[in-house]
Amino acid sequence: MAAPTVEKVQEIREVTRIERIGAHSHIRGLGLDDALEARNVSQGMVGQLEARRAAGIILEMIKEGKIAGRAVLIAGHPGTGKTAIAMGMAQALGTDTPFTSIAGSEIFSLEMSKTEALTQAFRKSIGVRIKEETEIIEGEVVEIQIDRPATGTGAKVGKLTLKTTEMETIYDLGQKMIESLTQEKVQAGDIITIDKATGKITKLGRSFTRARDYDAMGAQTRFVQCPEGELQKRKEVVHTVTLHEIDVINSRTQGFLALFSGDTGEIKSEVREQINGKVAEWREEGKAEIVPGVLFIDEVHMLDIECFSFLNRALESDMAPILIMATNRGITRIRGTHYQSPHGIPIDLLDRLLIISTVPYEEKEIKQILKIRCEEEDVEMSDDALTVLTRIGMETSLRYAIQLITTANLVARKRKATEVDVDDIKRVYSLFLDESRSTQFLKEYQQEFMF
Ligand code: ATP
Repeated sequence: MAAPTVEKVQEIREVTRIERIGAHSHIRGLGLDDALEARNVSQGMVGQLEARRAAGIILEMIKEGKIAGRAVLIAGHPGTGKTAIAMGMAQALGTDTPFTSIAGSEIFSLEMSKTEALTQAFRKSIGVRIKEETEIIEGEVVEIQIDRPATGTGAKVGKLTLKTTEMETIYDLGQKMIESLTQEKVQAGDIITIDKATGKITKLGRSFTRARDYDAMGAQTRFVQCPEGELQKRKEVVHTVTLHEIDVINSRTQGFLALFSGDTGEIKSEVREQINGKVAEWREEGKAEIVPGVLFIDEVHMLDIECFSFLNRALESDMAPILIMATNRGITRIRGTHYQSPHGIPIDLLDRLLIISTVPYEEKEIKQILKIRCEEEDVEMSDDALTVLTRIGMETSLRYAIQLITTANLVARKRKATEVDVDDIKRVYSLFLDESRSTQFLKEYQQEFMF
């Protein structure tokens, strides 16, 4: 088997991720302090203190390798941040930790069997960090990525592309880059050159439009360092790809283009066995390591008894990702049986679970989340408009209110305003129905819809 073309996967992933900045892009971690207490507002997270604290303790267990064979269940009402917490856990594990989110009902597709769909979800959640060494030639453009600067808000994280011309060491260059980042002279994504003598920075252009686009691509944090006074001739390049991506590009029937469409169909078990063998070889040679990611299964009560048996078995594997499930059901029937059970989950799986619950938000928390989303979407909103939107969030749902941000901003832009005002919110509130008004509307017009 030829070595998988990792770069190709990386390229494809960059394209597909941009579209998925989506609903949780503001979440950058769990927002906990060193004592694992949840800060009220931190890393994009607001409130839900108990649940975040519990999630933090589970993270510690994961880091100490004590999670094997167990899984997490987050129980709570819709829109109480279950997905956000799972995402926060993945982020806290590192930016290259794979995070896969599926809904229980997605498993029942006509294109593949339930177990194949679950296997794919599992393998999408297991990263393989592959190390490669490449030569750097003087004058070549290299890319150095750094972690969020301590002073940054998170928006400034990213990669700078630097020319190595005339540089003494990449280490020095990295230092200068950190200085300029903290001074906000240069933004993530800028392509710059640094004058060795003066440290003067010239901008050549931009490689990404916004830092968070880059962040959303799951960029790796790399800082190439070398002994002082020595020109770094080699750099170690690290890519993280998922087992599923390696499966797809090596599956002769599918080919890597399937990664674009997501239409991968079933993957033969021989392909998977071969890949597992190859990855084990790389691990032994020190060329690769496994990065267990997070698999989030929402509406887990939609799974049936066969899926639950699969999960039970899969959790035993030494390459299992961290499984986080969510539900808003209490006692309900286990699909595929006549038995009732808590959350519709069989007892043998329930036994393995650490259960966290989420609680409904207060008005000020909703307001804070909406404010963070406005910042995330670069939307200016007047205080009054934010107050109205918060009321809408309280009375309908948080998710509906979040959706109104983008639409209200479009309406405001049409009237050439730079700030969303109360009227813009009112306009989109009347244009787009929330669930209860939509149901009401259908009830009223049911007769006409029928025939
Ligand atoms: P469902 O059960 O319907 O899937 P959920 O409990 O998973 O809902 P989310 O999707 O996490 O809810 O929350 C809805 C939106 O609100 C998302 O955009 C999410 O990122 C944001 N959100 C929820 N809780 C928080 C929080 N505590 N801090 C910041 N953002 C949050």
